[in-house]
Amino acid sequence: MDFNIVPTSQSIPVTKGFAIAADWIIPMQQAPHSNQANNYLEKSAVVVENDLIVDVIEQTQLQTLYPGISVNQLGASLLLPGFVNAHCHAAMSLLRGVADDSSLNDWLNQHIWPLESQWVDNDFVYEGSQLAIAEMLLGGTSCFQDSYLMPDQVAKACQQSGIRSNIGLMVVESSNQWAQNADECIDKGLKVFDQYKHNSRLSFSFAPHSISKISSEALQRLLTLSNELSLPIVMHLHETAQEITQHQHQYQRSPLESLQQLGLLSPLFNAVHMTQISQKDQQLLKQFGCHVVHCPQSNMKLGSGICPVTELLQQEINLALGTDGAASNNSLDMLSEIKAATLLAKLASGQSNQVSAYQILYAATMGGAKALGLDNTIGSLEKGKQADILALDMNHIETMPLYDPISQLVYSASRKQVQHLWVAGQALVKDGQLTQLNNQQLIAQAKQWQQKIKGSF
Ligand SMILES: [Zn+2]
Repeated sequence: MDFNIVPTSQSIPVTKGFAIAADWIIPMQQAPHSNQANNYLEKSAVVVENDLIVDVIEQTQLQTLYPGISVNQLGASLLLPGFVNAHCHAAMSLLRGVADDSSLNDWLNQHIWPLESQWVDNDFVYEGSQLAIAEMLLGGTSCFQDSYLMPDQVAKACQQSGIRSNIGLMVVESSNQWAQNADECIDKGLKVFDQYKHNSRLSFSFAPHSISKISSEALQRLLTLSNELSLPIVMHLHETAQEITQHQHQYQRSPLESLQQLGLLSPLFNAVHMTQISQKDQQLLKQFGCHVVHCPQSNMKLGSGICPVTELLQQEINLALGTDGAASNNSLDMLSEIKAATLLAKLASGQSNQVSAYQILYAATMGGAKALGLDNTIGSLEKGKQADILALDMNHIETMPLYDPISQLVYSASRKQVQHLWVAGQALVKDGQLTQLNNQQLIAQAKQWQQKIKGSF
């Protein structure tokens, strides 16, 4: 793999690495706009050294600038940054499909919460997270944000798999299997943060569950810690009309306005869902530089409402995209989420030309990276960033003919076309197969959980 290069003003001298050459590259460097022209490169290559991207160049320049470099020539493939799934509850994969098609209240109160209180323990979180990570990697996700109990088990599963992750330190007031109260959630979470903070693929956030499940005092403590440690705060917010009506009735203001009064709104704040937003709420999001994490399939399946993506993008509020957990989705498939987000935005606005495929693709990569404070490291394919690179094989019936790679990717491609996925230059998916996790073992583990959990219905 060693090669020598002729140093030029355009290239960085490197001693080892490899290049990935493909017919199309979508670097995601350009900020979103509705005109898709010039947002992709043809017949180009990404040059990788160790964990970094050191160049993105035309294939014809490869042997001149990097003579002897090992080239992975993919032909009719498409390269783009790995997807950033900005909101997930990975371990809930083990509850996929347990109580579908019930009302939101029944789903939570009669099914999900009782099952969680019965089954969630270290093994559940570790093995559920492994299952989710495997699914995400096979679907092209190189980084995900997680919000769940036992973040130490999530961190362990992430570290073993090689995936990049932002681990949300879940905070709730009520006693649970992880902690007795919010203070203990925070104290134990900080120990996990201290244990893993030097791992280059792991970052952290605080994840207070939602405004009804946490006190103002605990939020104040989180705010202080978030500012001290520069950790994002990721929180379910404005998920349903009922949540907002109850809050309005009690406090005469929206949940978002209450958080503003507490001082929580800032560029470190990620508001997950935001399906019901007033003009005033939109102004607050814009004024304080908050991020909105849109989870369209979860919102649709639970009948929660519609996040007004068109208006948010018009106001240049940063939009990220998340799958939410597999219990409410029921997959962790970012390509499917991207298509759903694009179609839903058009349906909600009644205008087919208002939100482009590229804008939603941006939300699923750079938008997520910005929300998690990782945009200097990941989210686009450019020199100096981490080599988190997704390759899709476009030589498939369902993506033929191919006039526009961005349209084909968003509207026609499926995760079956994920060919390779590198995280920090390490191939975690190669030829459509996991390299670090054992598929059969994960399926066997999931079946064991299925038997146990099904017996408790
Ligand atoms: Zn969620």
